[in-house]
Amino acid sequence: MNLNDVKEFLARYDGPEMNIMEVCGSHTAAIAKYGIPGLLSPKIHLISGPGCPVCVTPSAYVDRLIDLALTPHMCVVTFGDLMRVPGSGKSLSIVKGEGARVEMVYSPADVFEMAEKEPETTFVFAAVGFETTAPVYALVLDQIVRNDIKNVKLLTALKTMPAVIDHLCANGAPIQGYIAPGHVSVVTGSNVFAPLAEKYSIPFGVSGFKGAEMLIAICGIVKAYGCGKVMNFYPSVVTAEGNTAAQQMVSRYFEPAEAAWRGMGMIPGSGLILREEFSEFDMGSRDLAEDVKINKGCCCDRVLMGKLRPYECPLFGRVCTPLNPQGACMVSTEGSCFSYFANKRRD
Ligand code: SF4
Repeated sequence: MNLNDVKEFLARYDGPEMNIMEVCGSHTAAIAKYGIPGLLSPKIHLISGPGCPVCVTPSAYVDRLIDLALTPHMCVVTFGDLMRVPGSGKSLSIVKGEGARVEMVYSPADVFEMAEKEPETTFVFAAVGFETTAPVYALVLDQIVRNDIKNVKLLTALKTMPAVIDHLCANGAPIQGYIAPGHVSVVTGSNVFAPLAEKYSIPFGVSGFKGAEMLIAICGIVKAYGCGKVMNFYPSVVTAEGNTAAQQMVSRYFEPAEAAWRGMGMIPGSGLILREEFSEFDMGSRDLAEDVKINKGCCCDRVLMGKLRPYECPLFGRVCTPLNPQGACMVSTEGSCFSYFANKRRD
């Protein structure tokens, strides 16, 4: 099918109603950027799932980072998008303004420069993300171990995709197809979704991030309604097996563990945690308390499960805006609430 045929098929589709979930923040942003919902038949609905790393980071994790940032001779190092994520009270950005030691970096390598200049300070790297960023943190750890660096540690909240999708399917998320995450699939390989596709008889389509790529993937998913199969529509960078060197590096330092997801609670096997033999580099990731709900009325949990559209949250656009986020889904440009707000989406 050429692109015009794909567009025509998606616009005229009159088969069974389909909810298709994307589980990647970059897909959420691309869907809005290319106006994809407006090109689909009213019988095809796109739903944003738990694909934005900071949106699913529990408040207890942010609280722990804040405690560390307020401790003498400690400095929390993070990428920018975690700064404004609310904990149970404040955010890193607020406590930084109040004098806590928090540094934003663009590359994890920056932390080594800081650590060398200030040997009396312990630098705690906030390691948040999915399978895509886990290899980066494995490389950081590799450098720490090889160079015997004593004052750089990690506080991890790393997540993995298959277990959370399994959780969604098993808990009645009303989804008939998944746009499988393109970046995650580069590392994991598309085969990682095959057991889930089979178990729930749901099609998965790995997609790129351009408008045409997403339309082709959605078309493939719609056509495969009810079929438990994985289709790779992003073969230029995704293979069935993924990046095995990156997978090996990750499993050298991390092992699967139960993990807390904001609003969704503990999900077995959905996280990555430092292996016991490297626990001296861990600032307490293993004993983080389960998430606590932070704002009365915040519906991030149901939004992340695909059970509620962002604009159906009573706080959306009234109390909760990108300038005054009440929940994590409004913080990052990849968050579903942010995307719906910024693009005035109402689909
Ligand atoms: S609009 Fe704000 S408060 Fe409501 S679910 Fe989204 S992030 Fe949470």
